Amino acid sequence: MVKQLKQYDVIVIGAGNGGLAAAATCAKAGLSTLLLERHNIPGGSASSFVRGRFEFEPSLHELSGIGTPEEPGMVEEMFNRLGAEVDWCKHESTFRLIVPAKEDDTDAFVNENGVRVSVDARMPVGFEAFSRKLDELVPGSYESAMKAFDLAEKMYKAFDALGDGDNMGGIFKALKYMPDVMRMVSHTLQEGLDALGMPKKAQDIFNTYWCYMGVPASKFDFCYYMAMLHGYIKNGTGIPKLRSHEMSLAIDKVIRDNGGDIWYNSEVTKIITKDGKPAGVVVNGSKEVYGKRFICNASPNFVWNDLFDKKDIPQKQLQMTNARDVAVSLTTVYLGMNRTKEELGITDYSVFIAPTSDSDKQYAACHDFFSGYCIINCLNEIIPDCTPKGTSQLFLTTMTFGDVMRDIRPQDYKKFKTKVAKDMIETCEKALNISIMPYIEEIEIALPPTFSRYLNTPHGTPYGYMLNMWDSMIPRTVQFIGDQPFENFLFCGASQERGDGYGCAYHTGEKAAKLTIKALKEGK
Ligand SMILES: Cc1cc2nc3c(=O)[nH]c(=O)nc-3n(C[C@H](O)[C@H](O)[C@H](O)COP(=O)(O)OP(=O)(O)OC[C@H]3O[C@@H](n4cnc5c(N)ncnc54)[C@H](O)[C@@H]3O)c2cc1C
Repeated sequence: MVKQLKQYDVIVIGAGNGGLAAAATCAKAGLSTLLLERHNIPGGSASSFVRGRFEFEPSLHELSGIGTPEEPGMVEEMFNRLGAEVDWCKHESTFRLIVPAKEDDTDAFVNENGVRVSVDARMPVGFEAFSRKLDELVPGSYESAMKAFDLAEKMYKAFDALGDGDNMGGIFKALKYMPDVMRMVSHTLQEGLDALGMPKKAQDIFNTYWCYMGVPASKFDFCYYMAMLHGYIKNGTGIPKLRSHEMSLAIDKVIRDNGGDIWYNSEVTKIITKDGKPAGVVVNGSKEVYGKRFICNASPNFVWNDLFDKKDIPQKQLQMTNARDVAVSLTTVYLGMNRTKEELGITDYSVFIAPTSDSDKQYAACHDFFSGYCIINCLNEIIPDCTPKGTSQLFLTTMTFGDVMRDIRPQDYKKFKTKVAKDMIETCEKALNISIMPYIEEIEIALPPTFSRYLNTPHGTPYGYMLNMWDSMIPRTVQFIGDQPFENFLFCGASQERGDGYGCAYHTGEKAAKLTIKALKEGK
């Protein structure tokens, strides 16, 4: 029997980063707010899990948008606005990129680990320091790097202005920075860096963060990469002391302190429509809850497939969802080690190991398992006491595109998963000339189906849809309202205009909330 409950001003579906930011903003503005999450904890990807004596970080490598006390970044500003408290640990460098040498590479050299490499780039924080280091590695690249960072500053400001809840207002504010943005808006990252005269070898190092959006240089919108890079390089990044779960719990508290309701273990199984637009939701197949407006943090693929009656799905939004490419999927191996990072010989927080530094070649190789691409992170580098004394935790990440699991039979899954993890561990061992395997105390392996089961996204992507040139951040921002399915139902999260990432997801949640608050004030 379906039981009907009270009506809310706003119902938020899903407590990922987008949903949490949306619910907290609505609750703080005094709206009666209900946040529904199918798991027993908040956060989606922003969470933690425990195996043995280790508490693992499931997703966050680097949080851009913390900034400095003098110049707080986008995420820190949002936490301040909400009054959510988090103990940040700063990451004072950026990345180390290692490209192990092929036999025939005559320029290869032996690095400090005793490994023959084509590239070993350990890049510092700060535009000037980064450009100088790049010039040291690839002479003649300083000037082009500094020019690129000058544009990054403008792109960042323009995108910040574009972010306003009110689209047109944002666009007018952004016009101040627009001449350069407009000039570059239809150009790819590769075209932009070519135009600035950056040598190809330097571009490959400069573009290392392409994987953070999963878009290679020939498809990545120049402006967006620059704005993103600004967040990572200018002031460095950070992570919360108690895993990303700390951030999610801090926002959960804001929602409750401001009178919002949060129901965990509550899956939305159907959207109820009235006169062709959403009017309520069914929770766990048994409870009806009604609301005036809705903010949805679940993936549009899932929403159209499972939550709406086919007759109620707006055709334009359905076509748009189908036209988009699903973004990158991740595989992560979480390792609890019975040795310290010093004993293991780990000296960096974040090392990108790539068979090729050319993002397009790497992208092509990532349409199959396992391409040899692996990022290795050691949390103890930033939070020394994040594991018990004498231990450390590592997480290894690789990426794939498309349905890479299609040929794996269920009965072979466990074997396949173990093989992928073994290949990733051996890749890291070889590239860093260290030993990992004998010291593993705990291991957890998450493949795309693991993330898919947890997040309810196609191929388990935590990144939404690929930010191709035709469907990049600026066209999505300008078309934001047109892309929303109903006047009282807005999406938020990684599937929206900024793509993946903590800061992006929070931003879309806050924006959807602001539009919701405005609409309710106007009596819509
Ligand atoms: C391994 C990994 C590494 C990453 N590294 C970084 C990084 O270093 N930096 C960075 O910024 N980003 C990183 N990301 C990406 C980042 O985590 C995501 O882009 C971001 O968290 C997406 O947030 P979201 O708002 O889209 O919500 P999601 O995390 O997708 O959460 C959606 C929530 O909705 C819930 N839900 C879905 N359907 C329903 C329903 N029907 N009813 C109720 N609830 C529902 C789900 O249970 C989930 O809790 C990483 C992600 C992963 C997986």
